[in-house]
Amino acid sequence: MSSAAAYFCIAAVITAIFATVIPAQAADPRGRASTEIAERMKTSREGYERLLAAYEEQLKIQIAEYARRKKLYQDGELAEVYVRMAVRDVVRTRTNITEIQRWILEDDLALTEAVARTAPPLGKGGYEDSALLVRYNGQTAWSVSDAGKIESFFLARFGRALPVSARGQTAAHDRMGFDHHNAMDVALYPDSEEGRAVMQYLKQSGIPFIAFRGKIAGSATGAHIHIGKPSLRLASPR
Ligand SMILES: [Zn+2]
Repeated sequence: MSSAAAYFCIAAVITAIFATVIPAQAADPRGRASTEIAERMKTSREGYERLLAAYEEQLKIQIAEYARRKKLYQDGELAEVYVRMAVRDVVRTRTNITEIQRWILEDDLALTEAVARTAPPLGKGGYEDSALLVRYNGQTAWSVSDAGKIESFFLARFGRALPVSARGQTAAHDRMGFDHHNAMDVALYPDSEEGRAVMQYLKQSGIPFIAFRGKIAGSATGAHIHIGKPSLRLASPR
């Protein structure tokens, strides 16, 4: 595929994504069944995956072009500025790829939480450990501004930063009309040593959480620990 053809391919994919996502965003999400939200998320995810594939194709072409120009420059047949331009193109495409990969991860996490809406609410102080999730309805009034204590605990215990994947509201939560302002997602498998330690800390501190084992929606990347009350309430549509 030529560079121009790759460009038009990406433009077509972007147009297709907006055609599917924008009408869904404009509609009032209140009162919709979670299955409909899940369908909408799947649609946007497929769009992202098509876009990702198009960018990866473009990256291959740009890397080849960089190598070609570098050779010409080394042979004294091309000015260095053209090599730098090729490097800039590669960097830009790699940045775009990283961003789309982040969107896909955010969607996976948000979709996992959307599907969990079907679970009946837990009583005060209630605890449940099922095949799909572990959840605890702690009664400490936790807010996202208290995240530092959990982060300090994790750093002291494991010598690395807590892998926070969503601090408060993300674009994926906006798209689904979920209020995630006062919650934090941590990219840890509940059944890992680190995941178990975090859950134990939260329970001892009375902090509510839902730990997803990632078996919901057939997505292994959906595994994470949601800290704070469940983000079940649908926020005002934007
Ligand atoms: Zn969450």
